[in-house]
Amino acid sequence: MTDRYAVVGNPVAHSRSPSIHARFAEQTGQDIEYLRLLAPLGGFVEAVERFRDAGGRGLNVTLPFKREAFAWAARRSERARVAAAVNTLRFDRDGAWGDNTDGAGLVRDLEDRLGLALAGRSVLILGAGGATRGVVGPLLEAGVARLTIANRTPSRAIGLVDGFPRAIAAGRLRGCGFDDAGEGFELVVNATSAGLAGARLPVADALFAGAALAYDMFYAARETAFVAQALAAGCPRACDGLGMLVEQAAESFLDWRGVRPLTAPVYEALRAELAAEAG
Ligand code: NAP
Repeated sequence: MTDRYAVVGNPVAHSRSPSIHARFAEQTGQDIEYLRLLAPLGGFVEAVERFRDAGGRGLNVTLPFKREAFAWAARRSERARVAAAVNTLRFDRDGAWGDNTDGAGLVRDLEDRLGLALAGRSVLILGAGGATRGVVGPLLEAGVARLTIANRTPSRAIGLVDGFPRAIAAGRLRGCGFDDAGEGFELVVNATSAGLAGARLPVADALFAGAALAYDMFYAARETAFVAQALAAGCPRACDGLGMLVEQAAESFLDWRGVRPLTAPVYEALRAELAAEAG
């Protein structure tokens, strides 16, 4: 029997997840169908329970419901607990299990596809929202030596890092505003949502001095505003977050099906799809 999955969010029409999971299923021979589920704001739990009661096996959760999914899940992975957010739900006999695969997706894309070993690196993340919350734990676990979270609203970055007291005590983690970020970063990650509006970030070019890579979690058919900003500031290499999207999806697929799909061909297919849409 075909097992049913979906991505739940609001909005959800733009989601690439159905196309990614259809490719994973074809590649691994798994019999699944994967749909889009638009949940009304304030109606997340009802939509999820209806989907589950109709035989659904699991869900990806996207904006703005990741924290609600965390609260609703009966059991959670350690990385979901650290992130206080869930992007993957699996409906087991003993209740819903919640995971957060965003951080693992970023680490895999950086290390495997882009060849940037993270151990010992100095990393700057711009932004302190849900996406940053999901990646701090996995980046620290990957051995990053120094992780700075800089945000437009500094108190939000400081509040976020407060959840990692051991890393703060070890001098590995700090939160601050854009102007106090310091310098000497080898990797600069954009985790703000400014890219949606195509906006340039109000940060100094000096933040990119000496960086080997700038990484935009946002992705688009054309060069993103952050990629353009980093290259103009002298960063030798910059890329968008399409690879992270594919890798976090592969991690969800593994959660559900116990099989890890190959991501490289799916990334290439999606990149071509985006380019074709852009004309
Ligand atoms: P979020 O929780 O809404 O957080 C938004 C962040 O962006 C906040 O830190 C906010 O700062 C900052 N911000 C918004 N507009 C800004 C501007 N004009 N200038 C400077 N900072 C600005 O969003 P999120 O869930 O963390 O998502 C962030 C981005 O990551 C989105 O573009 C999302 O698409 C992307 N993402 C990608 C993947 C992937 O797989 N590739 C996965 C997850 C997320 P304040 O606190 O000052 O408001």
